[in-house]
Amino acid sequence: MCQVWGMKSTSILLFIFLSLKVSAQNNDSATIRKIFTEALTAGKSYDQLRQLCNIGPRLSGSENAAKAVEWGKKVMEEYDFDTVYLQEVMVPHWVRGDKEIFVPEKAGSRSTPPKYLNICALGGSIGTPEKGIRSSVIEVKQFEDLEKLGRKQIEGKIVFFNRPMDPTHITTFPAYGGAVNQRGSGAVMAAKYGAVAVIVRSMSLALDDFPHTGAMRYDDSITKIPAAAISTNGAEYLSELIKLDPEAKFTLTLSCQTLPDVKSYNVIGEIKGSQNPGEILVVGGHLDSWDLGEGAHDDGAGCVQSIEALRLFKALKIKPVRTLRAVLFMNEENGLRGGKKYAELAKANKEKHILAIESDAGGFAPRGFDADCTDEQLKKLKDYLQILTPYGIHFMEKGGSGADIGPLKDGTVALLGLRPESQRYFDYHHAASDTFDKVNKRELELGGAAMAAILYLISENGW
Ligand SMILES: [Zn+2]
Repeated sequence: MCQVWGMKSTSILLFIFLSLKVSAQNNDSATIRKIFTEALTAGKSYDQLRQLCNIGPRLSGSENAAKAVEWGKKVMEEYDFDTVYLQEVMVPHWVRGDKEIFVPEKAGSRSTPPKYLNICALGGSIGTPEKGIRSSVIEVKQFEDLEKLGRKQIEGKIVFFNRPMDPTHITTFPAYGGAVNQRGSGAVMAAKYGAVAVIVRSMSLALDDFPHTGAMRYDDSITKIPAAAISTNGAEYLSELIKLDPEAKFTLTLSCQTLPDVKSYNVIGEIKGSQNPGEILVVGGHLDSWDLGEGAHDDGAGCVQSIEALRLFKALKIKPVRTLRAVLFMNEENGLRGGKKYAELAKANKEKHILAIESDAGGFAPRGFDADCTDEQLKKLKDYLQILTPYGIHFMEKGGSGADIGPLKDGTVALLGLRPESQRYFDYHHAASDTFDKVNKRELELGGAAMAAILYLISENGW
């Protein structure tokens, strides 16, 4: 008798539990539908991106970066977030200067040769003497080639790193990862063998005339030499020229320099949690950009999507259970000082972060998220895919997250990177072509809504 009743009661409890679970899932699904509908019909991120891009390039320490800080604060205040504030951080101040010239003395076999090879200084590079550096150029593909050539063949020359991004990768980030050490460490590696400057093939899979800048590093124990990127078309042409005449001379002139650090800010907006305000969920992008384009995809898109993610909660009158924070990080591109400062203060103030999401891979259609988190957290995120797949979010995989949120890593906070379609990202990345017109309104809005959906699910249900 008792056993039968026991079985019955267990079944009833199980039935109630499953019904509650199904109804919670239905509620989640209905809210997420509302989030996407609001984003796609009344989204504000595209207009915000237009405003941000109108400011122009926003390299750390520049006047435009300061204007972008004011802009971000004003937008969040207008959306009536509960708290909006600035977080002070000192940032590097590198300036390009007005001279960037790389001229061959001969034109090779071309009947109508370009006068200049399109180059731009790499971020952080020192300049050349005013009259430039005149030398022959030696091409390498791998760092090992430097060792093979040896100091005898490299000393006094300009080293040309010409390893293209590997086009066989289906998504483009691994291709970038396989080539970018030439940009970051090329100058240090070549200087060890007595090179006088480096020219690096732009990190792009497209063949065009845009040079792509990006951060490079020096080692204080190695002679500092100037470093510039050359467009992919320029790289092909340069390679041809030096094959025809290995002794051909080129003159490289750069007038970039590093000025003293400047005071700047992370911009933060917050909606306080209604039940667990002490648990914080961050969504962010970086407000600074390289100085050649408008930083539309990198990373204006991530900034406006992050603001939009919180605005969607306000617009739909959803009171989040936990605290939501949009953070526009300063100085991701050439120092990561904003991301480090944010994590440092979070720790000092004993804040408890349970989730941080970063959008810094372009404003293209979202496909999924890479997650740097525990196995249990990943399982929970994967379970939510059944709700998110109708919106084009197909994967949650272990992987990297984002540079700015990286310093928050402590083994408990889940770090997520939004992963949009990647095919065109490196066509524009760090180049003058990264402008507002390259961003599609719907793709941008879908990315912001996807991040809002994750915020909602984790804020509502916890881990
Ligand atoms: Zn970026």
